[in-house]
Amino acid sequence: MRILVTGAAGFLGSHLCDRLLALGHRVVGMDNFITGSRSNLEHLKSHPNFQLVLHDVANFIEVEGPLEGVPLGLAKAKGARFLLASTSEVYGDPLVHPQPESYWGNVNPVGPRGVYDEAKRFAEAITMAYHRFHQLDTRIVRIFNTYGPRMRPHDGRVVSNFVVQALKGEPLTLYGDGSQTRSFCYVDDLVEGIVRLFERGGPEPTNLGNPNEFTVRQLAELVLRLTGSRSRIVTQPLPTDDPKVRQPDIRRARETLGWEPKVALEEGLRRTIEYFSGLTAA
Ligand code: UDP
Repeated sequence: MRILVTGAAGFLGSHLCDRLLALGHRVVGMDNFITGSRSNLEHLKSHPNFQLVLHDVANFIEVEGPLEGVPLGLAKAKGARFLLASTSEVYGDPLVHPQPESYWGNVNPVGPRGVYDEAKRFAEAITMAYHRFHQLDTRIVRIFNTYGPRMRPHDGRVVSNFVVQALKGEPLTLYGDGSQTRSFCYVDDLVEGIVRLFERGGPEPTNLGNPNEFTVRQLAELVLRLTGSRSRIVTQPLPTDDPKVRQPDIRRARETLGWEPKVALEEGLRRTIEYFSGLTAA
C-alpha cells in the first residue's frame, strides 16, 4: 500500500511510519514541524519508500499518485482507508471504570480540556458519518496514555516530565496528591495495535492501551527507582478537570485483533529512560 501519515514527525507518527515501512508499505509522511521534530524522521531521510511532505493539515491536502490509506476528504477522493487517531479523552473524567467503547463519556465541554476533547469527539462523529453516508472504509482508535522514545521532553506529559526531571536531579512535580490513576502503554505495543486495526479491524471505535493501572505517585516512585535519581517529589495543584481514573477495557481489541500489550511498565520505562539519557547527554 501507499499510505499517508499526517503528523509523521511526531512521537506516535514517526513510530507508525517506521512500522509501516518495515511491513513493506510506501509512506508519504506529512508534517509542518510545529510540534513534530525533524530528528524523529532523520533516519528515514534516504529510505527509498519514504517521502516527506511539508504541509499544514489545516489547509486542503492534495497528494499526487495513488493512496490506499489516509485523511477523510482525501480518502474519499482516492478510495482509500481512513484511520482516525482518537483518544481516551473522549471519556472525559469517566464515571464508568474501566472504560469500554460503549461508554459515552463524561466531558466538560467548557472546561480547559474541552476544545481537545470535543474536537476528538467531533472527529469520531464525522468519521462515522463518512463511513455511513459515503461508505468510506474507516477505523477509529482510542489511544490511552502512551509513552516511549521520541516523546517531546517538554510537552508536559507525566512520563516525559518525571523522567527528564529525575535525570536532571530536579524535583518531580506531582499534581494533586498523586492518587489519580493512569494506565501506561509502551509505544511499540500501541503501534502494533494500530497496524492490526488498520489491516483487519472494523469501523467501530477500538480502545488501545495497557490495562495495568497505576497511581501517578507510583509512577513517580518507579521513575526514581529506575533512574537511581535523588530528586525529591514536590506536589503542585491538580489541573482543572484532570481525570481521576483511567483504564482501558481492551476486550474488543483482544477479540477482534488478537492484540494485547506485551511490554511491562518497568521495561518500557527503562527504554524510555535510555532515550532521554541520550538526549540530556547530547
Ligand atoms: N501529572 C503530574 N505531574 C506532571 C505531569 C502530569 O502529576 O508533571 C499528572 C496529571 O495531573 C495527570 C497524569 O499525571 O493526572 C497524566 O497526565 P498527562 O498530561 O501525561 O496525561 P493525561 O492527563 O492526558 O492522561
